Amino acid sequence: MDVLERFVTRNPTSKRLYEKACRYLPSGSSRNVLTYPPFPVYMARGLGSKLWDVDGNERIDFNYNNTTLILGHNHPKVVKAIRDQLDKGTVLGAPTEGEVKLAEELTHRLGADKLRFTPSGTEANLQAVRLARSSTGRDLVAKCEGAYHGSWDSMDVSVSPPVEKAGPANVPYTLKQHEGIPQGVLDNILVLPFNDADACQSLIKRHRNELAAVILEPVQRDTPPKPGFLEAIREATAKYGILLIFDEVISFRLSPGGAQRLYGVKPDITTMGKTIGGGFPVGAYASTDELVKPLMIPDSTFPELKSARLGFSGTFNAHPVTMAAGLAVMKELTPTVYERLDDAGERMRRGLASIIDGEGLGFHVGGVGSFFHINWMADEVVDYRSSAREDKILSRLFSLDLMNRGVHLWGHPNVSAATSVEDIDGALETIEEGFRALKPLIKERAR
Ligand code: PMP
Repeated sequence: MDVLERFVTRNPTSKRLYEKACRYLPSGSSRNVLTYPPFPVYMARGLGSKLWDVDGNERIDFNYNNTTLILGHNHPKVVKAIRDQLDKGTVLGAPTEGEVKLAEELTHRLGADKLRFTPSGTEANLQAVRLARSSTGRDLVAKCEGAYHGSWDSMDVSVSPPVEKAGPANVPYTLKQHEGIPQGVLDNILVLPFNDADACQSLIKRHRNELAAVILEPVQRDTPPKPGFLEAIREATAKYGILLIFDEVISFRLSPGGAQRLYGVKPDITTMGKTIGGGFPVGAYASTDELVKPLMIPDSTFPELKSARLGFSGTFNAHPVTMAAGLAVMKELTPTVYERLDDAGERMRRGLASIIDGEGLGFHVGGVGSFFHINWMADEVVDYRSSAREDKILSRLFSLDLMNRGVHLWGHPNVSAATSVEDIDGALETIEEGFRALKPLIKERAR
């Protein structure tokens, strides 16, 4: 039985649900990134490192809602904090103590002064960019080719452009990712090549009088920065009064103080999401007292009330349940847990590399900390253009085959604090079987 047939046979309820979903949701989906042919598996339950789908199939999770659940599914202390909050209410139409506590925890970890919560990473980046534009009085914002900073006009640009249309590697074109983005938005975005310090420095210098900010992921997807790259961007932006925004929506989990602490480079504004909401929708951006001034409501005496220069609001900002769950996660994330996460990531990377070597497949294994990634080509991924050479067909077939074998490995693979040594070693055995099954196709595609 081939991979696709096995998948369809093992997941009849998911298939039925998907067919029904297609009647009510465009392509049966609310998140494009989680949809794949022939249909996505519908999950029913998660606990620790495991997921169970609607057909009762059990799988080891290596996705954790795209890196969100750093403690695994339904960690008892997080569940308790959520239940305790639910007993008190959901949204209360006023500030709560939870947001003060989580803001205190996160600003301490980052060494930042103040922070604003949003309901998603997308909104954190959107507001951080607006803050930078308002602080500098400039419009142009630079982002790296291949970087995803959420689904909104300014950043839906050069996320995965066709390389043949994307211009010279050291001066990439600004290309819209999807339709419906006004030319005026594109005119205000400059695209930089991640990990090419010289090219970035010269582009920043050329646009030094127009640039409000450079936004980048210190670890782009799972590609770490080359030594000196972040420092070079920091130096160039500081020199010209351009703000540096680190999108740490994913990379914040790499150390108690995020990737910025790991690599020793401090941005002006940090955006976060995913892990800090304990499994609930969340985003936040943090900065200095000086830079958050546009967000501050000027002092006045009651009943007079003045307006802030930037008027962001949001019905679900700092949702009490999110705050409770996020705080419970942060309390568990001690230095020892970060060490365990790194060790588990390393065990996974080493195991994968050894299987790939043993099978003579010549694929490179990448990732850092708790992330791992099979590159599906012999070279290391160092930037978007090298990642675009990966064999995506093999990658998708492998992931679907692993679903049949009980391993959930889509998207941005990662281990959580709930991933045990037994989980890793068991998954590696399964992955070895998966590679062997795929070998004839790998050889055929290499020809
Ligand atoms: N920035 C990065 C680096 C991300 O990976 C994501 C989401 N995958 C976002 C921003 C957007 O976050 P959200 O999905 O919470 O809007």
